[in-house]
Amino acid sequence: MRVDLVIRNVNAATMVDGRYGLIPNAAIVVEGERIVWIGPEATLPVQTADAAAVIEGEGRLATPGLIDCHTHIVYGGNRANEFEQRLRGVAYETIARQGGGIMSTVRATRASSAQALAEGARPRILALLREGVTTLEIKTGYGLDLDNELKMLDATNILAADLPVDVSRTFLGAHTLPPEFRDHPDAYVALVCDAMIPAVEGRVDAVDVFCESIGFSLDQTRRIFEAAHAHGLAVKIHAEQLSDLGGATMAAGMGALSADHLEHLAPDDVPALAAAGTVAVLLPCALYTLREVRRPPVNALRAYNVAMAIATDANPGTSPCFSILLTMNMACVLLGLTPEEALAAVTVHAARALGRQARIGTLEPGKQADMVLWDVETPAELAYATGYNPGATVIRRGRIRV
Ligand SMILES: [Zn+2]
Repeated sequence: MRVDLVIRNVNAATMVDGRYGLIPNAAIVVEGERIVWIGPEATLPVQTADAAAVIEGEGRLATPGLIDCHTHIVYGGNRANEFEQRLRGVAYETIARQGGGIMSTVRATRASSAQALAEGARPRILALLREGVTTLEIKTGYGLDLDNELKMLDATNILAADLPVDVSRTFLGAHTLPPEFRDHPDAYVALVCDAMIPAVEGRVDAVDVFCESIGFSLDQTRRIFEAAHAHGLAVKIHAEQLSDLGGATMAAGMGALSADHLEHLAPDDVPALAAAGTVAVLLPCALYTLREVRRPPVNALRAYNVAMAIATDANPGTSPCFSILLTMNMACVLLGLTPEEALAAVTVHAARALGRQARIGTLEPGKQADMVLWDVETPAELAYATGYNPGATVIRRGRIRV
């Protein structure tokens, strides 16, 4: 039997069922873009001499390719000036009155071309790719009108065509109320439902809503989800970040792929997520940047076996974080995840948060051959260090990424 690629002599963390599932002295056989066999090298069913290519793993750790399942990484401008102003003691209200905050990102995004937005995001995405990210979710949400939301998708498509990473696209037209609709929020919700969602059908994987007292109400969020479903689109939600509106429970009841943030989620609401199979996406870099003291109810999520994913939440305001490895460390130090849970949170559970669990997230026969060979001895080393990238070789869709 002639095969395309054999990776030999690795210590494989398969991450099946969210566990390391370590196979020492493993070999992995790849045909085309898929894994066709994984197991102890001593039981390898093919001769390595029959493989078109062989990677000598030298005892390195093999994990599934990492998945960043929640980002706002395409945007115009940045907000470093506000960061500096706040640390010099300027009040947030003053900054907002001067046109700062999310609206400054909306203005900068509206003023940029799709090409300029893509060029701005490219180095940020490359930083994630160097850390072994093979699938990246990117949200719209800084255009807030049809043309500018579509322009953000064009920018994302430029990046997806150019860069060696699989991209999941999420429409977040309901990120914040644009100023031109300040006195007519329901008119904006109607625009999202009746004009924007039909226009993005077939161009995005999911629809997301920022459900919050400063975002969209529970009822408005429900209307947007109904429109998404009517157009065959999956839904996700930003919920319970600043207060408890019950958004996560509502979204779970509507079959949401994920409920994200959840700092203020009541433990009593956790069973609803478990029953629906909705993934809890935790965003520790945002909580760090905001110096938020509330923590998502990790113990309850764990007790009810809710799949926990983590993500960078890469965005210019509340989480200017472009490191998935740092996010894993913060999930352990700030939220109390174990290193095994943190690795599952950026592989198997992150895949589920994107609805892609049949294709990616574990090292198993039939899965897409996305993997990272790390220069570490134990998987805990990935979450243990800060500011250190032990990544060595990234394989995506069966090819070595250079
Ligand atoms: Zn977000």
